[in-house]
Amino acid sequence: MMGGHHAISGAAVWMALAGSAPVLGHVTGLDLWELDPAQVISGAVVATGAALLPDIDHPSATISRSGGGLTKAITRTVSSVAGHRGATHTLLAVLAFTALAVLVGGLDHRAHLPVLGEIPTGPVILVGVMCALGTRALKVVDGMLLPWLVGLASALAIAVIAPEATIWLPAAVAVGTLTHLVGDLLTTDGIPFPTWPLVARPPRRLASPLWQRSGDIAVPLLGDAGSAREWLLCTVLTGYAAVTTLSTVFGSPGVLLAVTSSR
Ligand SMILES: [Zn+2]
Repeated sequence: MMGGHHAISGAAVWMALAGSAPVLGHVTGLDLWELDPAQVISGAVVATGAALLPDIDHPSATISRSGGGLTKAITRTVSSVAGHRGATHTLLAVLAFTALAVLVGGLDHRAHLPVLGEIPTGPVILVGVMCALGTRALKVVDGMLLPWLVGLASALAIAVIAPEATIWLPAAVAVGTLTHLVGDLLTTDGIPFPTWPLVARPPRRLASPLWQRSGDIAVPLLGDAGSAREWLLCTVLTGYAAVTTLSTVFGSPGVLLAVTSSR
């Protein structure tokens, strides 16, 4: 799946699981964590970026092009150690990314900023990086510096509207990274066996595109990455994410007020 498609599917799945805003009289999300609207929106921003994290093993992915030489070096190293669609595309990696989010989000450090006052450093860094990745993948803004500035501004706004980095932060990272795995699972190449590093390989006569000789599994409903079906699915997901996000924001004037007053 392509970077932008991963990002939008992360946002859409987050809205489906965490959102609760009604659209045309119908409830559009499962409200799994009973979050307030500001936390739902903040989580959507994080899930959008987190949905790109598994491709940290790909030297030409969005994440590689995000931070100049540093991110290029990181992705090249991960790629040479783990290979593409290897370790970082496993349930174990989802756990690791989520654990990292718990650690960074829970950092016991606060910075004092003019106007904004005290802000939690860890969540601002985490949200800022996720937002920068997401905006770049969705081509909201381009260039070397601009996505990072948008990321920082958004992270500061989120620190104001959702000052407590509770369950929504690690949950959004988990949802984003898990959605990436599902997205790749739906393409021909698939992902590593779910219990990786314990891999069950099929005997030759049972090997198929669904369970490959390498042990990789796929449910290739979308065909090859970047297919017309992938575009179609992601167009629908974009519509869903946009409508539910707008409904969450405009159904809750408090979110709008908090964002406006933080500027
Ligand atoms: Zn991937």
